[in-house]
Amino acid sequence: MKEAKGDNLDGIKDGKKKEEPLRGGHDAPPAQGEELAKQVRKAESKFEGLLEAAPDAIIIVDRGGRITLVNAQVETLFGYCRGELLGQPIEILVPERVRKAHVGHRESYHAQPRTRPMGAGLDLAGLRKDGSEFPVEISLSPIETEGGQQVISIVRDITDRKQTEQKLREKIREMDDFIHVVSHDLKEPLRGIEAFAGFLAEDYAHLLDEEGRRYVHFLQSSAVRMKDLIHDLLTLASISRKAPTWQQVDLNEILLRVEQDLEYTIRQKQARVERPTPLPTVLCDPTQIGEVFKNLLSNAVKFNTSSTPEVKIDLKEEGRSYLFSVKDNGIGIDPRYQEQIFGLFERLHPQEEFEGTGAGLAICKKIIESYGGKIWVESELGKGSTFFFTLPKRAG
Ligand code: ADP
Repeated sequence: MKEAKGDNLDGIKDGKKKEEPLRGGHDAPPAQGEELAKQVRKAESKFEGLLEAAPDAIIIVDRGGRITLVNAQVETLFGYCRGELLGQPIEILVPERVRKAHVGHRESYHAQPRTRPMGAGLDLAGLRKDGSEFPVEISLSPIETEGGQQVISIVRDITDRKQTEQKLREKIREMDDFIHVVSHDLKEPLRGIEAFAGFLAEDYAHLLDEEGRRYVHFLQSSAVRMKDLIHDLLTLASISRKAPTWQQVDLNEILLRVEQDLEYTIRQKQARVERPTPLPTVLCDPTQIGEVFKNLLSNAVKFNTSSTPEVKIDLKEEGRSYLFSVKDNGIGIDPRYQEQIFGLFERLHPQEEFEGTGAGLAICKKIIESYGGKIWVESELGKGSTFFFTLPKRAG
């Protein structure tokens, strides 16, 4: 095993400054001092062993951004030997284009040091000695040493994960292409069924008995339902097929439009919709974000049997993300099904009770996840539901 070597490994003890007596202090009697020194050496060698056995690259950097310690994984990952790294600015391992910004981030980290992932939600890259780059995930922790506060960075090479994600994206895209083609092809014969069922109902109803007329009615309502399903399938497939049109979107306008679209339903149910004003402007696709709010808002009103349906939209800023919530005083959702309802065509109620295709939440999930956000629900049967979703902030 290679030794983990750095300028001041001696000063690091369980993330704390080493107590003076542990250094074989002057006050301790000689025998006791030797024993303590032995213990210190043992602890140090344990620390070094752990450092070297770690599967991730570990780099310790001082306040000035100079590398003070690296483990063997750093050499393997970045292609340097440790002698070439110790004392160098950490930016040696960062791609040129982000070096300047990195210095700024590093300095602000020292002002507010805490254990956290670096650049959450961003695609980070490491720079090898040969100039090639690779995707990384980095977590940072402050560490107290004799040389003052330093930062321990744990760097993980995520090349394999990124490749798997890319393959998965390609597969989803292929599947969505297939859904798109099939749904489109189904539209034409469906139009025929709808049209001829209409002719039957209008021009031949007098030739049919009551049962015959009932069948024609079923035919017509089945065609309408199939049209809705195809529409939802096409919407779902379009999320990965069409590149989103990124733009600064005023959420006040989006919600106003959604409320106008749902005006009939809201008025019919005499629902009260509350939302904070003003809402922020976010970088996203206006159609997609509108679709998310429309589905959540219409569900909040639809799955609501209260005599005074109330919906409350809220927003909080949480670090690099917005956290939205849509709360209702509706029928609630059994905890057993709270994950399941985000699946395609998953419904908890028959069509006769509450209309719908069961695709709305699957569409919301796909849109939100394509933005790198998350969506979930907290609910209790009979006590209403709150749907939450996060939207990472993006620079415009
Ligand atoms: P749809 O509204 O077309 O049925 P969704 O995908 O939007 O489909 O919702 C799936 C299911 O989740 C609904 O059928 C319903 O059972 C449940 N659900 C969604 N939103 C709510 C809500 N606000 N309150 C209670 N149940 C809900």
